[in-house]
Amino acid sequence: SKGDIHAQLVVLGAGPGGYSAAFRAADLGLDVVLVERYSTLGGVCLNVGCIPSKALLHTAKVIDDAEHMSSHGVSFGKPKIDLDKIRDYKDGVVGQLTKGLAGMAKMRKVKVVQGEAKFASDKSLNVTDGDGKKQTVSFDNCIIAAGSRVVKLPFLPDDERIMDSTGALELKDIPKKMLVLGGGIIGLEMATVYRALGAKIDVVEMSEQLVPAADKDVMKVYQKFVSKQVDEIMLETSVTKVEAKKDGLYVTFEGKNAPEKPQKYDRILSAVGRRPNGDLLDCKAAGVNVDDRGFIAVDKQLKTNVPNIYAIGDIVGQPMLAHKAVHEAHVAAEVIAGKKHYFEPLCIPSVAYTDPEIAWVGVTEKEAKEKGIKVETAVFPWAASGRAIGVGRTEGFTKTIYDKQTGRIIGGAIIGVNAGELIAEVTLAIEMGCDAEDLALTIHPHPTLSESVGFTAEVIEGSCTDLP
Ligand code: FAD
Repeated sequence: SKGDIHAQLVVLGAGPGGYSAAFRAADLGLDVVLVERYSTLGGVCLNVGCIPSKALLHTAKVIDDAEHMSSHGVSFGKPKIDLDKIRDYKDGVVGQLTKGLAGMAKMRKVKVVQGEAKFASDKSLNVTDGDGKKQTVSFDNCIIAAGSRVVKLPFLPDDERIMDSTGALELKDIPKKMLVLGGGIIGLEMATVYRALGAKIDVVEMSEQLVPAADKDVMKVYQKFVSKQVDEIMLETSVTKVEAKKDGLYVTFEGKNAPEKPQKYDRILSAVGRRPNGDLLDCKAAGVNVDDRGFIAVDKQLKTNVPNIYAIGDIVGQPMLAHKAVHEAHVAAEVIAGKKHYFEPLCIPSVAYTDPEIAWVGVTEKEAKEKGIKVETAVFPWAASGRAIGVGRTEGFTKTIYDKQTGRIIGGAIIGVNAGELIAEVTLAIEMGCDAEDLALTIHPHPTLSESVGFTAEVIEGSCTDLP
């Protein structure tokens, strides 16, 4: 049935997946409606994720760098923190980007419909706006890009002092003592911000290392560096109870490194993961399969089990990262526009924008072991890098990982300042099918941290052996 609005393509959700799909489809000549429940475009990433967190992490980095400069003979004194201005700056960054998106949608004649969408059938959505007004949007094709939400721990009391990542980004105050519950990327990034702004931090993590997906050697360096900055890192430990009292949040721990008595905190940041929004869309009405966890299964063209309905981004699975969503978005839009494209990257990089930064891509040593892939690894410690010594940040290292059979690079990890930028070269090398010789023979500018990627390759047998 024809609804109030009809479009060749309706995109459900305006995060990095949704807006990228809408824009690409419009560029390819389709008429597109983009449905979003919130008043700004950009989804989690722009509004309460990647972008505001990185704006705050920059502030943290400048504070840390300034302090570090005393060992270079320059002292700046204690930083004066104006939380309102820090917040304004962050909000300004977000506002500039979300407004930019609105402009780009207009330019491409993508019609934005504000409201919460649920499927009515495999050809239409019901959209309810903030005032409760309903309209039907019918479509030939639909791309589901409804993203994910924060996982809530059932035993956490409802208390203003207990925050998730969204609350932490609001920067209400700088607590004297904060517990970061969950030692993954998001928890550690927010810990970096609050620590630089003056909070004392404890981190509790159930696994035997922080950021469980990354290799052990990488996280060992991180933990050694960071344990000088935070009070406690409690690995293999979990929180069993939180009691909200007037004078603080009393937390009971259990496990290997659990303190005996409950500990008191002024705030808790709960960062224990995100879950997909597949359960909130009435997918049944369209016949789209959603699994128990809320994920929607798709093929390499991002098609769900219903031929005219596609899904992309956090809602289709790990890794829940913005750059993955964007690339899936482009493929889905192109397939709908009639192109025979597939989403089949060799690798997707992951970055924790902490201090130092942690970045990895492709096959980790951990994964190689699990999958029985024989690998050769090469490590270049930054203690031997002129540039790292110059900036006084030698704690890091660069590692490249090769398939022993083919000699090709299949993975890499970098820990150290700017690791997030540096990992892009390893990512390209994997996509291009480089072997160690290709990397070693590539002339890198000197003195840079990027040289470290080439240096790792030089120690692999069979490649250029003249060390610099
Ligand atoms: P989302 O960004 O979640 O967008 C989904 C959109 O759909 C939302 O706008 C939502 O309101 C809308 N929607 C949902 N249901 C409905 C409905 N029924 N009707 C209408 N609209 C609906 N990733 C990185 O790559 N790098 C980072 O540095 C990074 N940092 C992060 C930091 C934090 C604190 C967090 C929380 C996440 C971070 N991420 C980062 C992850 C990144 O934000 C997500 O991977 C990305 O936003 C996923 O994009 P998406 O388009 O799939 O979904």
